[in-house]
Amino acid sequence: MRLILLGPPGSGKGTQAQRLVQRYGIVQLSTGDMLRAAVAAGTEIGLRAKDIMAAGGLVPDEIVIGIISDRIDQPDAHNGFILDGFPRTVPQAEALDKLLKQKRLELDAVVELRVNESALVQRVETRAAETRARGEEVRADDTAEVLTKRLASYRAQTEPLIEYYSERRKLLTVDGMMAIEEVTAEIQRILAAVGSAEPKAARKPARKAALARTAAKKPAKTAKKTTKSAKKVTKSARKAARKASKTPKKRGKKAAKKVVKKSVRKAARKAPKKSVKKVGKKAAKKVTKKRAKR
Ligand code: AMP
Repeated sequence: MRLILLGPPGSGKGTQAQRLVQRYGIVQLSTGDMLRAAVAAGTEIGLRAKDIMAAGGLVPDEIVIGIISDRIDQPDAHNGFILDGFPRTVPQAEALDKLLKQKRLELDAVVELRVNESALVQRVETRAAETRARGEEVRADDTAEVLTKRLASYRAQTEPLIEYYSERRKLLTVDGMMAIEEVTAEIQRILAAVGSAEPKAARKPARKAALARTAAKKPAKTAKKTTKSAKKVTKSARKAARKASKTPKKRGKKAAKKVVKKSVRKAARKAPKKSVKKVGKKAAKKVTKKRAKR
């Protein structure tokens, strides 16, 4: 599974990425973390990025694209990855598309964490206090002043990605204001619904996975199709009930049930099991009641 987590600073991308990593056995690729590591190690990239990051600016594209490309090639990313903090601009998204194409990899989904901006300052302040309490060094850009700048940059440069991925039918939006566990559960639910999510311990049979992928590509059409087939089932079950009610009286309950069963079985071959069973049972009950009345 290959995912992008999209959201403003403080929206919980890092926290959610770590939870998804554990569940799906994939790696989190955070450009922010990689750049901070480069700054701490004093590498050439780190030296170039240090001041830009402290001021809340964006590090040049060629740097972030380069580190992401190298990182995707590492063996631990072969099973899949979650991009956190990348891409941050439309040109970066276009570069990523190109890069994935070259590597013959496909992006499964982009999960947008939608949050209320006024809550972000509070969240970032809490994150700074918790880091301090652990005796760790607070990020240079975790201040209200720098956050304002990072938010402005998010709005101007990163938010257009919502449309970019929406047009490409990759976008899934989650309410990031819920409790951490609820956000995780919702992400897992929508990923499962579009067929992207395959927890490491429970791989789907190939046909099921293929069907789920088709559903992900054509959500509207598939939903319509399902309703149509459900209607079809109801229709055949109704037909079954009608047929059963026309059965000569002397055959009684048993015969009525037999007719219903036969027609329902026929309908079941054409449509999803659950609804057929339900409708069939109902129809059988109806017929039985009718017989009892006579
Ligand atoms: P983050 O941890 O994602 O909030 O990133 C921290 C800082 O790293 C950002 O404010 C930027 O200065 C830099 N950075 C991270 N990812 C990118 C990126 N994709 N493009 C440019 N700069 C980035």
